[in-house]
Amino acid sequence: MTAADWVARDSAVVWHGFTQMASYVDSAPIVIERGEGRELIDVDGNRYFDAISSLWVTTLGHRVPELDAAVIDQLGRIAHSTLLGNGNRATIELAEALAAVVPVDDAHILFASDGAVSVEQAAKIAFQYWVNRGEAERRHFLALGDAYHGDTMGALSLGDGGFGTKLFDPLRFPVVRTPGYAVSDWADKAVSAIECHADELVALVIEPMVQGASGMLVSEPSDLARVGEACRDSGVLLICDEVATGFGRTGKLFASEWAGPAFRPDLICLGKGITGGYLPLSATVVSGPVFDAFDGADLGPKTLYHGHSYGGNALGCAVARRHLELLDEWKVLDHVGEVGDHLASRLDDTLVGRPGVAAVRRRGLMAGVELAPPARSVRLGRRVCAEAVRNGVFLRPLGDVVVLMPPLTTTTDEIRRIVDVLAEAIDTVLLWDSR
Ligand SMILES: *Cc1c(COP(=O)(O)O)cnc(C)c1O
Repeated sequence: MTAADWVARDSAVVWHGFTQMASYVDSAPIVIERGEGRELIDVDGNRYFDAISSLWVTTLGHRVPELDAAVIDQLGRIAHSTLLGNGNRATIELAEALAAVVPVDDAHILFASDGAVSVEQAAKIAFQYWVNRGEAERRHFLALGDAYHGDTMGALSLGDGGFGTKLFDPLRFPVVRTPGYAVSDWADKAVSAIECHADELVALVIEPMVQGASGMLVSEPSDLARVGEACRDSGVLLICDEVATGFGRTGKLFASEWAGPAFRPDLICLGKGITGGYLPLSATVVSGPVFDAFDGADLGPKTLYHGHSYGGNALGCAVARRHLELLDEWKVLDHVGEVGDHLASRLDDTLVGRPGVAAVRRRGLMAGVELAPPARSVRLGRRVCAEAVRNGVFLRPLGDVVVLMPPLTTTTDEIRRIVDVLAEAIDTVLLWDSR
């Protein structure tokens, strides 16, 4: 059974997300069989450094013995039991551990399985919060340009489109939108919209510090802080989508912390790295005051009528709790600070100003290298990443932005290798195009 056989079997039955299946086989996909540390190993035994953390979920690496043990240990008790109206010990223990570290006052946590759903839940909770308080005239969300919040209908509505989602426009609910981090005075625009629409707004939904999927656009902590203040002063709820930025990626446990201790989101959406990349789990964290607005009679109208079959899955919660402990025990945030600085200097030395590179953006271990496609180059991002994969570094672009999001335990030597392989890949592809 060769890799080509696996790809044939794959394309016969698996429909891959964000992928045109008609060209799947020809775009040299790799089929993974195993992982080891920060490397992926394909069905032929080839190794690739996982420089995108398997689409931003892997934090400490693959097959981390401590995380494996947490799953196995929980398997010895139970894999799953429903959270609808009942509890599970593993879920309670994770919720307590999370509540102690999230920058949300008196945190209460509604679990689900995917990042998009954590956003979906946050939007519904925020909307119903105002209904329960008798202020149903607040119906609109404020969201930013270039925002990405996931692919379900509500999350898609809050997001700013792109990725071929325009055809769904008729299904999206309208939102008030002000510019994203690509515009330098985005915070001024957001603050005036908050002040101007204060009485109609349910909430501001924002990706704190880094707009990931739009190509790693970054903001200043002071701008984020100002927007948070405006929300608090106008009584508009603040929903921070930390699905990408949470659990250490930016060098803080949560990116919201960059804006200072006074920045206290009313709701935070968590996903991706929450289990270290092991199992699908997500969470909507809600402040005490928001939670209290749902207090009411049993089966009464103030109840939140929402919940998912696998929400709070015990296996996911067990590994997420161990992961949270390891982030602390291994001093992972300090490491991200150091390695992030190293990444910054390697990017500066090697890629800034290089032919074919338009811009480099970074916060912690989230970085984007925006390519400048010469007129005759098409799909430059795709081809540069394919070349890097051929050289053993697994990368995937967002359009013409190459994303570098290595696991949080990546070493400085590995950082050097990633940046060098990317630089070579850019040179190689540009050379082909110039022929
Ligand atoms: C990835 C992402 C989501 C969606 O998470 P899924 O688990 O893919 O549904 C939502 N918000 C942000 C900021 C993300 O990066």
